[in-house]
Amino acid sequence: MKTVICPGSFDPVTQGHMDIIRRSAALFDRVIVVVMTNYHKKNSYAFSAEERVHFLERCTASIPNVEVDAYDGLLAEYARQKGAVAVVKGLRAVSDFEYEFQQALTNQKLNQGLETVFVTATAENMFLSSSVVKQVCELGGDIGNFVPEEIRDDIIQRIKRGGQS
Ligand code: ADP
Repeated sequence: MKTVICPGSFDPVTQGHMDIIRRSAALFDRVIVVVMTNYHKKNSYAFSAEERVHFLERCTASIPNVEVDAYDGLLAEYARQKGAVAVVKGLRAVSDFEYEFQQALTNQKLNQGLETVFVTATAENMFLSSSVVKQVCELGGDIGNFVPEEIRDDIIQRIKRGGQS
């Protein structure tokens, strides 16, 4: 049984994230999507970790081998605890690469044997990020193609209200 971890901020989960999660679920036996705190973004999250977990739970409910969790610590340690063989990350462009490569090497040092598998973004999701969703939503644009249908209205409501709950 091969377990992998899909880590991220998911602030909020987008169709780009969902694509990587679905493809990971097709490749591996068990996928744990884990909401983490990115050191560089920790003061700018729009949604609490609980909200981000709830959104992911609703969006992944129909994928049987996917579970959702939250963890505030070292990814390499979390992977060890879960017996994961790899971390799966989505790559959008060269700009993602340098950061992701550094993370992958760090995780390898901290947890020998932990692989990082890079899945390339699809052409239509290449531009998509949680920041784009929040920006478009804040300015009243249509985020219908950017986030899963299940959570679209909740995101619109929360971004319109502003701040964290
Ligand atoms: P982080 O704060 O750790 O960068 P994100 O939530 O921004 O977390 O991203 C989590 C993962 O999802 C990363 O591997 C990122 O490259 C990937 N990802 C984000 N958006 C897309 C997208 N549109 N297509 C493919 N992968 C994506």
